[in-house]
Amino acid sequence: MSSAEQSVHFRDGSLHIEGVALEDIARRFGTPCYVYSRAALTSAYASWREALAGRRASICYAVKANSNLAILDVFARLGSGFDIVSGGELARVLVAGGQASRTVFSGVGKSTAEMRAALEAGVHCFNVESAAELERLNSVAGAHGKRAPIALRVNPDVDPKTHPYISTGLRKNKFGIAFEDAIALYAHARALANLEIRGIACHIGSQLLDPAPIAEATAKVLGLADRLAADGIELTHLDLGGGLGIRYRDEAPPPVAGYLAPVLAQLEGRREEIRFEPGRSLVGNAGLLLTRIEYLKHGAEKNFAVVDAAMNDLTRPALYDAFHEIQPVAPRPVATCRYDVVGPVCESGDFLGHDRELAVEAGDLLAILSAGAYGMTMSSNYNTRPRAAEILVDGSQARQIRRRETVEELFALETTLP
Ligand SMILES: *Cc1c(COP(=O)(O)O)cnc(C)c1O
Repeated sequence: MSSAEQSVHFRDGSLHIEGVALEDIARRFGTPCYVYSRAALTSAYASWREALAGRRASICYAVKANSNLAILDVFARLGSGFDIVSGGELARVLVAGGQASRTVFSGVGKSTAEMRAALEAGVHCFNVESAAELERLNSVAGAHGKRAPIALRVNPDVDPKTHPYISTGLRKNKFGIAFEDAIALYAHARALANLEIRGIACHIGSQLLDPAPIAEATAKVLGLADRLAADGIELTHLDLGGGLGIRYRDEAPPPVAGYLAPVLAQLEGRREEIRFEPGRSLVGNAGLLLTRIEYLKHGAEKNFAVVDAAMNDLTRPALYDAFHEIQPVAPRPVATCRYDVVGPVCESGDFLGHDRELAVEAGDLLAILSAGAYGMTMSSNYNTRPRAAEILVDGSQARQIRRRETVEELFALETTLP
């Protein structure tokens, strides 16, 4: 069993992930819980590695997609680097056994304390997103007697044709430095004593299903690198970001090798090392959210399956109107009925799926598929709901990698009045 699609499968009429029945996981750990397949994580990483075989290339897993320590540990053991966007993510990477020297620090709002921590740890590169950040980083590095390795994150103004909330490389987005300002800012960076120019970074958006936008961005980045070289600024790496999409429903994302082909073709004969920051494509289809139906509610216009997971556990449907396939764990031989699958949270936006044909009864388990990326990491405690447990399956073993929160923990940091 190697691919993500195969890691979740039916055996004897009941849904399994690798060699473990989801019914057993629900019995042992309760619901709702996130369940991940180690084989699927490993196989997704291998597709990236293989697509980059023979190249001087590195993979920096984008931690924000799924930052559980055990998941980071899996990728660290596979030799992955990391892309972080906060001091918190840096701390996670270090605790999980990741190497700072293979970690890049992205994000538009790095604080002084975060810069300091990343300099102390020795991160590979700061992907700087503004002139003001460049000044700040120069002075923080100077105060610590260090030189900060930098790339400028440029904004190639390429339309990734994805959801507007996850498109990041357009001129109107808050990310990166406008292409036409980049040359002057590199020249300025060269004059700053405590910075060391290493590369260029760009990341144009997420859930990309077509290689054309990243190929176009690559062409622009290469043009910029050549202009910088003409000015005497030699770069050691080009970071082309993340963004490769996955299949949630009927999307047909290219395989990694196909996605990278038009990028790699342009890199023939160049000396810069290349770097990618995949998030979703490494973890998205390696995880699911397991939930139990509390009630079936049949109405005049709609039927509802009220489940014990909610928008606080998986916010993508509420936030982006995202589609996740929903599978009964043990389908029943009864007629299907059309349900909105909804949670207990007091918001009309609290749904996990609309109009799903399901043959189910109250008490049945449902698997919300493709939930490994931007699931647990975007969860909250809204409605004072303890966050779900997380389980990592490896062959026939299921290990709890995060226990369910208790209600007491949710208000442990608060006080009543004296
Ligand atoms: C979110 C993000 C990524 C990962 O994006 P995916 O679409 O999950 O691959 C990579 N780089 C940066 C800078 C990001 O913000």
